[in-house]
Amino acid sequence: MVQKGALGHRRVEIGSILSKMGRMVYGSRDARATALAQLKEQEGGDPFRILIGTILSQRTRDENTTKAVSNLFARYSTAEELAAADEGDVKVLIRPAGFYNVKAKSIIRVSRQLLEEFKGRVPDNVDDLLKLHSVGRKTANCVLVYGYGIPAIPVDTHVHRISNRLGLVETKGPDETEKELTKKIPRRHWLELNDVFVRFGQTTCRPIGPRCDICTLRGVCKYYREVVSQREAN
Ligand code: SF4
Repeated sequence: MVQKGALGHRRVEIGSILSKMGRMVYGSRDARATALAQLKEQEGGDPFRILIGTILSQRTRDENTTKAVSNLFARYSTAEELAAADEGDVKVLIRPAGFYNVKAKSIIRVSRQLLEEFKGRVPDNVDDLLKLHSVGRKTANCVLVYGYGIPAIPVDTHVHRISNRLGLVETKGPDETEKELTKKIPRRHWLELNDVFVRFGQTTCRPIGPRCDICTLRGVCKYYREVVSQREAN
């Protein structure tokens, strides 16, 4: 599964893993686009909408994000409009996303910050994105990947969990996972990784009750080798 890279780093054979994962998720009856992938398709990758959609997607399910985003953008579609929006109105529109009190304040505040500090344009680099209110590394990397098509690896709970289960990394948190994955995975795979891993995590390698019985990655999976097959043997 791994090989020594030219610089001595352990380079992961991720191409084969992504192909197998892709066949499982895109061919599955349960396959559905992630909220961000849908947003990218619908909005042509508008970085502002990706930014707001990613903030709304925090701590909620994809279908709730999609409803909230669609309600919101039907009324307020630009940073200027959202910066001047009535907070109570925004709360009602984004209610399906949950935590709507906090999220309404955040998206209005970030819209104002964009106008005041970035001339209304969403930054296209991590350092400036991280200056924005409510934006952490995952959100910043989502804006790069889904909004700008700039290679990055957004690490959410799915990407973190699956990377550790497969044995691609041995890490304690998402930021450390991102650091390790960017060292081990060739840049040409970064753009596709988040969407495939998230869909795989939603349908197959679920947090509780992973579907190892139908997974074609059993042969390269550390968790399967060390936990599932041992359990089956006993
Ligand atoms: S074998 Fe199981 S734990 Fe490993 S990647 Fe597949 S579903 Fe996840």
